[in-house]
Amino acid sequence: MSSFNDALDRRRARLHEQGLHRELRRVDAAPGPRIEIGGQKFLNFSSNDYLGLANHPALKIAATQAIEKFGAGAGASRLICGSLAPFHELEESLAAFKKTGAALTFSTGYAAALGTITALVGKDDVIILDKLVHACIVDAAKLSGAKLRIFAHNDLNDFEAKLKWATEKFRTPNSESRILIVTESIFSMDGDAAPLREIVALKNKYGAWLMVDEAHATGILGKNGRGLADELGVSDQIEIQMGTLGKALGASGGYIGGSRALVDFLVNRARSFIFSTAPVPAAAAAATAAIHLVQSADGEALRKNLFARLGEFNSKFKIQNSKFGSAIIPVMLGDEAKAVAAAAKLRGQNIFVPAIRYPTVARGAARLRLTFSAAHRPADVAELIAGLNQLGIGT
Ligand SMILES: *Cc1c(COP(=O)(O)O)cnc(C)c1O
Repeated sequence: MSSFNDALDRRRARLHEQGLHRELRRVDAAPGPRIEIGGQKFLNFSSNDYLGLANHPALKIAATQAIEKFGAGAGASRLICGSLAPFHELEESLAAFKKTGAALTFSTGYAAALGTITALVGKDDVIILDKLVHACIVDAAKLSGAKLRIFAHNDLNDFEAKLKWATEKFRTPNSESRILIVTESIFSMDGDAAPLREIVALKNKYGAWLMVDEAHATGILGKNGRGLADELGVSDQIEIQMGTLGKALGASGGYIGGSRALVDFLVNRARSFIFSTAPVPAAAAAATAAIHLVQSADGEALRKNLFARLGEFNSKFKIQNSKFGSAIIPVMLGDEAKAVAAAAKLRGQNIFVPAIRYPTVARGAARLRLTFSAAHRPADVAELIAGLNQLGIGT
């Protein structure tokens, strides 16, 4: 046993040397714009809870009621012991919200990507990904066995070149090969947007399928927070829409939105759905409450707050490579050790911001990832700017 542990400790020591070591920090209260870690209070600019819904009374009441009525656990996978009503209510709400014919939920967004991509494509098919898509999409693509091609981030010329290559090589008259394109709408670590209209036009031209991950746009962008695809008017031309219920929606779980045919197929073929215990009913009920909330006047007011805070930051902080179209603002530092040191110095000023490093982003592309919330106040933004300025960042 000791040689096993020694081997792991040696590997971890190498991560330390490279500035790539990670550790958990225990928080003893509900997440929010202020958190307490080890007795120290921090202003929190690290959460994906963009609308402050994770601790919202409407979600907590819905979750509590679901526990009272349906219990704490689901007992088995939905195909084995019956599919609890809160999942069906959630999927109906999602399909109406996203204006897709149907929706299917998974225990996480990660599981949604894994189950869906591996169900849709296999070794005779091609999958084409943007260079910066989330790890769950990369893992799913590898697991699917499909031929994998990556195009340079948001580069339409490179994208079309890959599509053309796949079409000429694999879509010969008698072949059944499929081409699946996967991109995010708002990219998780850069906060920039994919050119979805152009991507849709090219996928139509080449007869491919398109999957768009709206993890960081759902609840935030588009009418009623429907997402970027809705804002750009291409929602009905995307075969597979995906997202998480755990970010702006403040709950937990992942979803796929699309046709009834897609959902019925996934119920039969998505292994992460079939072979996994259904999520707790409380999570589904909380997510349903969130979906109703984001479409209401209250939801609109929260989005207004969020974008007001982003606007305040944008007008006072001098930074180049960000487009401010989302709640995510990366401050690029490059060197891993530099990013870790900057995050530590900010913690010294009671500001909590994560240093994002390899393997979440490429080596040498380390950054501070600032994420904003509707629950932040103008004074919080001012404090963040002052904290960054003290490190010589954005002055
Ligand atoms: C967080 C995230 C996921 C995974 O969703 P979870 O519900 O957290 O598993 C998928 N895609 C993107 C782009 C994400 O940022």
